[in-house]
Amino acid sequence: MASYHDEHAADKEDNEETVLALHREYLAELQEEFNRSMHGLKPPTSRTALRDIEVVIYNSVEHKDCAECPVCQDDFNAEEQLFKLECKHIFHKKCLSEWLSRHNTCPLCRHELLTDDPEYEEKKLDEKNKSRKKENVYSMYS
Ligand SMILES: [Zn+2]
Ligand SMILES: [Zn+2]
Repeated sequence: MASYHDEHAADKEDNEETVLALHREYLAELQEEFNRSMHGLKPPTSRTALRDIEVVIYNSVEHKDCAECPVCQDDFNAEEQLFKLECKHIFHKKCLSEWLSRHNTCPLCRHELLTDDPEYEEKKLDEKNKSRKKENVYSMYS
């Protein structure tokens, strides 16, 4: 018959196995989540769209609701040149350029900008068409 010590040691081994298995499961989950996020990753903003971003001069009266840059949280300086997106949000030129070289959305409201990725644009168009079709169906019955 096994002594208390042996049994205890065996228990401990079992626990370690369980912990290891849980750990492996956790790692696999992380990996999957990473893959998923990579898959859904949006391409950076197109160079043309970047070039077309409107430049505005900061004006504390006109821009009183957005006194600071949403990217770096620094206050805008009077007369400073800023980038203004179609969604009317304003940013430091440098901050927005850096952000848009990695994303295609407004950092504040996720408004989408044009990308250089034809596949992505096609998919976006597809989704738009789909929702339009849906709207048509609804309006037919309303
Ligand atoms: Zn900034
Ligand atoms: Zn925005």
